Amino acid sequence: YLEVANLTKSFTDTPVFKGISFDISKGEFVTLLGPSGCGKSTLLRSIAGLTTPDSGQIRVAGEDITWLKPQKRGIGMVFQSYALFPNLTVADNIAFGLTMQRISKPDIARRVAEVIELVGLDGRAHYHPAKLSGGQRQRVALARALVVRPRILLLDEPLSALDAPIRKHLREQIRTIQQQLNLTTVFVTHDQEEALTLSDRVFVMNQGKIVQAGTAEAVYTRPANDFVAGFIGNYN
Ligand code: ATP
Ligand code: MG
Repeated sequence: YLEVANLTKSFTDTPVFKGISFDISKGEFVTLLGPSGCGKSTLLRSIAGLTTPDSGQIRVAGEDITWLKPQKRGIGMVFQSYALFPNLTVADNIAFGLTMQRISKPDIARRVAEVIELVGLDGRAHYHPAKLSGGQRQRVALARALVVRPRILLLDEPLSALDAPIRKHLREQIRTIQQQLNLTTVFVTHDQEEALTLSDRVFVMNQGKIVQAGTAEAVYTRPANDFVAGFIGNYN
């Protein structure tokens, strides 16, 4: 469903990807694990259209999206920092991505109300971000990604700025929503427990390559090589 084929990308003279390829099925939840600087964010940003690859292809449901504008791709993305507009309400932050599409005001209002309920922000529609907790702000960011009804959801360390109990609650909620919508999801984390509990499959990355792809159980109990064996269980 999400197919990446022979993607290459360099920044000035430093290669990040020398040809990365993988397929993710419709509705699958894949976690990317790997050391800092291995290219996780660059990969998500390339899929979202925020970074231009040098060569290769990105397809969603068979459609080549490699060179489409970000807003034409049908992709929702959540970042570690919330990146909310401080002077807009929760509802207006969520609606922002829809105002550039041709959708009527009542439809926008209905869709915003739907995702507010989905992420559990009932009663907060008219708050400003400054009045929200970190977990609530990240729910707004999630709602903003979902309101466009994306074909792919990309989550780049969405929980890492949050306190442990909130993190655990929100990760379970993300998984529930993802399953409810059968939403193909790529999730980046440094937290191996998150990867273990959430994922259909885990991709372990090192230096711009996927060095093992498999179920969390396979990656943890049968590491494919010395890098994976050394990385899993020893990295935080
Ligand atoms: P982290 O776990 O720290 O978030 P990451 O796996 O997300 O790391 P990336 O941010 O994708 O790693 O970075 C991959 C490599 O590309 C790094 O060497 C980084 O320095 C480099 N890089 C990323 N963005 C840029 C940029 N805009 N300009 C130049 N180099 C960049
Ligand atoms: Mg990153």
